[in-house]
Amino acid sequence: MSRIGIMGGTFNPPHNGHVHAAQQAVKALRFDRLLLIPDNVPPHKVLPHGSADSEQRLEMTRRMAAEIPGAEACDIELKRGGRSYTADTLRALHKTYPGADFFLIIGTDMLLTLDQWREPETLCTLAAFAVVARDEDDRRAIADKAAWLEKTWQARITVVDCPALPVSSTQVRADRALCREMVPPAVYAYIEQQGLYF
Ligand code: ATP
Ligand code: MG
Repeated sequence: MSRIGIMGGTFNPPHNGHVHAAQQAVKALRFDRLLLIPDNVPPHKVLPHGSADSEQRLEMTRRMAAEIPGAEACDIELKRGGRSYTADTLRALHKTYPGADFFLIIGTDMLLTLDQWREPETLCTLAAFAVVARDEDDRRAIADKAAWLEKTWQARITVVDCPALPVSSTQVRADRALCREMVPPAVYAYIEQQGLYF
């Protein structure tokens, strides 16, 4: 039975926090493969002016994947079009990889808002969760929410035991020096080549 890790995101742009979360989840949960999935139109946010387009986000996701052994970029949500719902993606992936176990790698913000995702209860049957703290101060909130989700929807949650690496795409888009420091070099080279963000 294969174990497949999934990390979804807008990846606008991918940064070292994403790489760190993915690497630590791989180390803790030993996936056979890891799919990095850029979303099409994120259901929960509007992309800021000057953002990378879908093709650019996919290319940056490929470059991030090259940093992580066993990882590959997956364009299933971009190809499907429309709003990207993780439940739809997981149903499709269960068909592609029958019998596989799926693990969604998410940061604190996504865990805390899980009940606002589409079909949260079904989602808990389609995949387990690997949660990575985005900030050291998140740990209490993560533990409380995980306990509630386990009790209410029988969610299967692993809190990955690793230090937090607090950085966001929003911060990186606002500060070129921070961007150079906090995104993988191949991603930064692409940002410069395409004239993104700055
Ligand atoms: P933005 O600021 O544009 O929202 P972001 O940094 O939050 O960008 P997303 O693409 O929205 O990045 O996040 C994709 C996934 O990666 C989410 O599950 C998010 O919680 C997680 N994530 C993002 N940054 C980190 C980080 N520094 N540590 C752990 N998980 C992270
Ligand atoms: Mg975000």
